[in-house]
Amino acid sequence: MALKAIIYGFIGLTFAALCIHRTGDQAWPMLVWLAAFYVSGFIREVYGKLSQDNEIIISQATLFDRCLIGGVFITWSLLPNLQTASGWLDFANYDLPTNLLIAGAALQLPALYLFWRSHADLGRNWNMSMEIHSEQKLVDYGIYRRIRHPMYSAIFLSTFGQALLMQNWLAGFSAIPAFAALYFTRVPQEEAMMVKRFGDEYQDYKKRTGRLVPRFR
Ligand code: SAH
Repeated sequence: MALKAIIYGFIGLTFAALCIHRTGDQAWPMLVWLAAFYVSGFIREVYGKLSQDNEIIISQATLFDRCLIGGVFITWSLLPNLQTASGWLDFANYDLPTNLLIAGAALQLPALYLFWRSHADLGRNWNMSMEIHSEQKLVDYGIYRRIRHPMYSAIFLSTFGQALLMQNWLAGFSAIPAFAALYFTRVPQEEAMMVKRFGDEYQDYKKRTGRLVPRFR
């Protein structure tokens, strides 16, 4: 963990330095994106460990789902990092007014909060693909009390923020359709898998909760 932190820390600081060197006082939106990226990476690193020894008993991890995850990885992580460090995608830039850049930065806060709380509340029940492990519990408390997919809400907010902060069609905006494709194909399958495992308990839970935004009634 310590070695990993040193390596990633070194890469992050190098990318930040390259970005400042290249863009000067225009760097701050990309630096905000980079900082948020590192915070979410840290959250996933810490909580992801909890589920590494799970014994998977149901898996919906299809090749198609893996391809969609690949698309999200490229647009939400690889391209914005590449652009921050190199500017190679400058040909796809667009310009936004400062108030939209500030809005992009502000969006990172609820995104990171939801990302953290959903990992913390799911604990061992989190997984990258659609899978159920032998001791899976239905989490209907904490952030999951009123909302079924807070992690996906977090990622949507993060991609909207990214589109504003990166000001680039490939390294910013492309994450929105890439994640939307994953979300819209995955959620019906994920919910069907939860019904298969938890039956009426999940059906009742669905009635009490909103999909991406909290239900208060
Ligand atoms: N869709 C959720 C979780 C994403 S992680 C969200 O956006 O917050 C995906 C995995 O979480 C699924 O494969 C499933 O095993 C697990 N999962 C989803 N909802 C759950 C719940 N309410 N309780 C327990 N596990 C859940």
